[in-house]
Amino acid sequence: MRTSAPELPAPETLARLHERIIAWFAENARDLPWRAPDRTAWQVMVSEFMLQQTPVVRVLPVWQRWMQLWPTPADLAASSTGEAVREWGRLGYPRRALRLHAAATAIVERHGGHVPRDHAQLLDLPGVGAYTAAAVSVFAFGQRQTVIDTNIRRVHARAVSGKALPGKSLTAAQTRLAEELMPADDDAAVAWNVSVMELGALVCTARSPLCDLCPVLEDCAWVAAGRPEPDYVPAGQSWQGTDRQARGAIMAVLREAEGPVPRESLLRPDLAEPGNRPGAAKAVRRLRELGAPREQLERCLGGLLADGLAGAEGDDVGLPR
Ligand code: SF4
Repeated sequence: MRTSAPELPAPETLARLHERIIAWFAENARDLPWRAPDRTAWQVMVSEFMLQQTPVVRVLPVWQRWMQLWPTPADLAASSTGEAVREWGRLGYPRRALRLHAAATAIVERHGGHVPRDHAQLLDLPGVGAYTAAAVSVFAFGQRQTVIDTNIRRVHARAVSGKALPGKSLTAAQTRLAEELMPADDDAAVAWNVSVMELGALVCTARSPLCDLCPVLEDCAWVAAGRPEPDYVPAGQSWQGTDRQARGAIMAVLREAEGPVPRESLLRPDLAEPGNRPGAAKAVRRLRELGAPREQLERCLGGLLADGLAGAEGDDVGLPR
């Protein structure tokens, strides 16, 4: 059954939203290398993998390093998954490095080393979900697709639906709203997607929207409704003491070590030999300082091995080969 989208603004209001947000982007967009006129589809794809759940400021140096090392999918596919994980550094959610490596391998095997233009072929690549396929179609190839990330959802929720926050998860109705909000003209639709995303990142931010700087303040449904409170309290991302934190600390030790390290040194970091490299010593110190119980470290190490982010060799553990 086709669900109905939340109500659309009046046509003249929608035209103003299009015009003002796109014009704002032209004046205020960040100068990012994956938006350069000579960007490649691969550059865009790598940026989209990295930017999911990670802010631009942390992505930039890692993206630049990746582009130096692996300027094409074939370059990455020719390297080991361990190198990809090592160079992922501290971006977090390092399974994305494995997925990107798998996508690069498939691009070489299926598409002669060229990121496919076809949306269905993009979607068929390992590790490429609906968002990434749409984002690469739009930002690399200028195609008309509906891109919906958290920033876009937030701007739609506020400016159009009058809510403080979008629903906790993407609904079919929100997707239909995003489709119907896009300008009819294909080039304008591409510009709209990137412009709304940037407005959400820089102005219509989650915690403190900068409404006084917003180009659509006078048409914003949430402001017009008197800025009602959200229907729910967003869950804060806890970090301290979590398995995510412990997994990150173990991965840092593996990344910084010159080779595999004794498994026991990861489970009893107080006994670990930090080695001579400053990065390795720092990573061991961080793992120690967590004070994580052995049971948690065992669980986290087991998870990293099961995910293919680490590999065991006898009593030693290292990055995958
Ligand atoms: S006026 Fe404020 S809430 Fe509305 S879209 Fe702009 S920044 Fe967001």
